Amino acid sequence: MENQISKYIDEKKEELIGLAKKIWENPEVSFQEYKAVEWYKEFLEKEGFDVTVGDYGVPTSIRASYGSGSPVIGFLGEYDALRGMSQVVDTVKKPVKEGDPGHACQHNLLGVGHLGAAIALKNAIKNKEAKGTVVFYGCPGEEELTGKGFMARGGAFRDLDVSFSWHPGNGNAIVMGKLTALNTFEIHYKGQTAHAAADPQNGRSALDALELTNVGVQYLREHVTDDVRIHYSILNGGKAPNIVPDSASSWYFVRALSREAVTDTYERIKKVAEGAAIMTETESSVKYLGGCYNTLGNKVLADVLLEAMKETPSQKWSEEDIKFAQKMEEVRTNARGAFPTDKNTGEYLYEGEPFISYLDSYGSSDVGDVQHICPGILFITATTNLGAAGHSWQNTACAGMGIGFKGMLYAAKSMGLAGLKLLQDENLVKKAKEQFKIDMQDKEYICPIPKDLEL
Ligand SMILES: [Zn+2]
Repeated sequence: MENQISKYIDEKKEELIGLAKKIWENPEVSFQEYKAVEWYKEFLEKEGFDVTVGDYGVPTSIRASYGSGSPVIGFLGEYDALRGMSQVVDTVKKPVKEGDPGHACQHNLLGVGHLGAAIALKNAIKNKEAKGTVVFYGCPGEEELTGKGFMARGGAFRDLDVSFSWHPGNGNAIVMGKLTALNTFEIHYKGQTAHAAADPQNGRSALDALELTNVGVQYLREHVTDDVRIHYSILNGGKAPNIVPDSASSWYFVRALSREAVTDTYERIKKVAEGAAIMTETESSVKYLGGCYNTLGNKVLADVLLEAMKETPSQKWSEEDIKFAQKMEEVRTNARGAFPTDKNTGEYLYEGEPFISYLDSYGSSDVGDVQHICPGILFITATTNLGAAGHSWQNTACAGMGIGFKGMLYAAKSMGLAGLKLLQDENLVKKAKEQFKIDMQDKEYICPIPKDLEL
């Protein structure tokens, strides 16, 4: 069914794809998205939005609004790329330039999808089909999972009645299952160096402390709830076997389906690190890098969005797109069956009916922060071949061609239409807020980015 939202996005299609392409060709990593921000600003101002860049103490953030009064509908765009994920548009792995960043999480599409929805909703307000305000939030640094937290610390998102978030993916689904909350931190150890063979008794090994911490954490795993995930990498494990290391460090992620479980586990790991320091007569210190909330999908918004997705004409893949996806399937690295399959065909249906998914996913997104400030919903649409692994070169390739652009436009149209439904029926917003109150269980959002943490 053709609607005003879809029509407007089709009118602007070339410009939207052009911007997604330009950002794909100029990938910028977290908090360095200066070019992207400039292009968004230009685009939004041309569309008549009031645009501010760099508020909330976050230089590459954007807030752009159109309209007045309530309800206020927010769209949460992102635009950062991943280090080392450069890739040309091809079905074989080949970087544009080895080591350069690339859009392997497809945020070049993500941001523009939200932009498309925002300008289409603006057009509806302008034509007096709806009343209210539309806000496009440009959110940097999602790959570090703290961009929205830093923005929230600076006061962002409190103006919203609801928020919509879309992420590129390999199917059309609304995410009611949870993504995990997270803390990211480093543990540093200081010891005393010595010749490892000649006078080992004088050495106090920082590496020993690090290893004992990791061992302690393995035991801790037995006594946490099932949803807790702990992973680490060693940043510094000393220089050579014959030198007792006087410094060592590791980088930890703690994830869980609730913020409380993350905080609890984090505090316990700090104790393990202190214990390891006592055992080895070294010093430990923890450097907190940031954190985010789990997602909290709002059922009322999920239903509105599902209706909008069903009413929005999907963007059929061309022969060329299908061939590209088929080739990609031949070279994909993850095992078949890792993704939900269609019961009838046994295949994952990229053009299948949209649905609401209640499966928890153990990845994280800082969208969760915003979803604890106001009612929000996250969804995915197909922008890759079926089996493209997350953060893979295949994702980068698909984000620069037809498959990615089609999924992006479908997302923009669906979100825009869902936004329009809310503006036209304030009762829905009221219901979403009631649901939010129930889901929050009287808890308040406590920003995981402390006052003194520098960006
Ligand atoms: Zn992403």
